[in-house]
Amino acid sequence: MPSKISFCNDCDLMDRKGFEEVHTFLNSINLPAGDSFWLFDPSGGDMGLFTHDLNKPGPQQHWLLDQINDGVLDVLHSAGSYGERFNKGFSPNRALIEGALEFLDKNAKIPRIWTNHGDVHNTQNIGGVSPQSYHNGDNPEAPEYCLDVLLDYGVEYFWIDRLLFRDASYPNKITSTEMCRDGNSIITFNRYYSPDIDWSPNAQNLFQQFTLEDLKRFSENSQDAIYYTHWGCHHDNKIALTPKGDVLDYKNKKALTEFSRYLDDLDISIVRTTELLDKDKIKDDEKEIQRISEIVVTPEKDEEDNFYYNQFGLRGLKYYYDRINGMKIKGDKALDAGCGVGQWSFALKNHFNSVDGIEINPSALEYLNSISEGLRSRYSSSYPRFQSASIEDIPFSESYFDFIFCYGVIFCANIDRSLKEFSRVLKKSGTAYINLNADGWYELLVDERFKSKEDSFRRIYAEPIWNALVSRVGGEDIFQLVCNDNLLDKREDFWDKPGAVREEFKKIFQSPIINLEQLLSSYSDDMIRLLGQLTKEYIHQKQQKKNEGLHQNFSGRIRNIRRKIFKPRPEYFPVEGIGSRNRAFFPEEFSEFVKSSGFVLEKFTHDAGLVLEGHVDPIYVSSFNSHESVWECILRKI
Ligand SMILES: [Zn+2]
Repeated sequence: MPSKISFCNDCDLMDRKGFEEVHTFLNSINLPAGDSFWLFDPSGGDMGLFTHDLNKPGPQQHWLLDQINDGVLDVLHSAGSYGERFNKGFSPNRALIEGALEFLDKNAKIPRIWTNHGDVHNTQNIGGVSPQSYHNGDNPEAPEYCLDVLLDYGVEYFWIDRLLFRDASYPNKITSTEMCRDGNSIITFNRYYSPDIDWSPNAQNLFQQFTLEDLKRFSENSQDAIYYTHWGCHHDNKIALTPKGDVLDYKNKKALTEFSRYLDDLDISIVRTTELLDKDKIKDDEKEIQRISEIVVTPEKDEEDNFYYNQFGLRGLKYYYDRINGMKIKGDKALDAGCGVGQWSFALKNHFNSVDGIEINPSALEYLNSISEGLRSRYSSSYPRFQSASIEDIPFSESYFDFIFCYGVIFCANIDRSLKEFSRVLKKSGTAYINLNADGWYELLVDERFKSKEDSFRRIYAEPIWNALVSRVGGEDIFQLVCNDNLLDKREDFWDKPGAVREEFKKIFQSPIINLEQLLSSYSDDMIRLLGQLTKEYIHQKQQKKNEGLHQNFSGRIRNIRRKIFKPRPEYFPVEGIGSRNRAFFPEEFSEFVKSSGFVLEKFTHDAGLVLEGHVDPIYVSSFNSHESVWECILRKI
């Protein structure tokens, strides 16, 4: 899709002569630009409709009305210019602003765009969700409250001065919606200026603002941009002055000319700001998140394991939307526990008033921050909020959430602790959706999906089955007990082994921590079988026959996966020890944890089985080697 670019100029210190010089030049190189004006300018400048009273027209009032009617002046640059040097103690109240708008409505038309003027004397500025102390335009208690009047007269878009957008490499949605103090919801937008400019973008530093590099990035990302400028200001030590001579010198004219030359090649069109905002406003949220996400996870595209890229690139966001829609869930506050790159969080946002995502993997958070930066999520309450946290230690108060969503994460964490945390932060009768892997999934990865990969790669996925098997026979504690009770010494088949091997074997078992990887990689199939038999016998002896069906094939399966044992991948499981907890769960095993955490398991089914309306394909196969693979469930807090 071609990019659209518009110019959104602040009329600060502009006079008619300068305005005409700039716009004549821009038209001559085919860059039609809109511009802005003030309602009041008590210093008597050309760009004010009035000076300080409705009976005192500005010196160029008729000319301004013509420009407004022609659509060139399409932005209201706040209620007026009252910087300390110009205000002469004047500040218009609500009645004056209303009177000026009435005049404008009668004699021309009212622009649909408002931009705050960045001066503390501009108390009529609109503050939005995080107002500064001097923003009073949307404060119904203040004498200069005027937002309701602006909206009544058809002003639709607001630039509220903190939304400067500095980095063109971030794809972004330009508009967002936010609630003001008077309860009105407004559409705000961001303006772009180059990070190379150290203060305000003006007529002297245009050449830094309009670079080929930025244009290329906009084009590549199908990104629209509203350029922020002050054509009428020259700067001297951060003091803005009306230019003494020509507004645009040779260097800046050259930058604009080159800028205009590249547009065709890069498929960029120049439009008026209103047109651009109208287009951005109706952009479909889902498509916009998809576009932005695909761009930010692109760096991973060529890597061997492009897990995060696939979240957006393989299925697209629509998949996650369909699946959440089909689950028929809704409520006030939702948590996406272990949110990855946020694909589920974005899908949840249409069903809950607020969605928070927590994630511990720094590379996923990096993607996520890039995506939400682009969406201006901090400023729009409808976008999810994200933070770095573990699902074992959730940074929210008790009984905060109505719903917790946890897809494919809990088996990488301390499951007991995580479930207790879910229970703590959920309201009474709140529900948790949990999706997790059983043995079949890991066997599929090792035996099918990655069978042509080198062993080390397949071992990554074998480890969870190993952990599951060990844990089913009682965990490492049981292995230790087997040794401590000298069961090995009592076995004749053990003494058949060469002495050195026996000693090594015993040493491993009698050390405080058994190194299972070392054990399994160093010893023969016979040894492994022996270990399995011993453990089984020991369990029978001690009558710890829980889950008999699950561990009866222990030694056979251990032999199968022995070749696959490997260390956890630190880049995926950055918390010390977390990888070694990663394991497979069958529903009957999981239900033990559920009970002890204050939940009831309401229902469980294969992946995507909880989609009640419409059909959505599962992401993962439901069984492999007659073992259940990826399954999901709903828990209810008692
Ligand atoms: Zn300004």
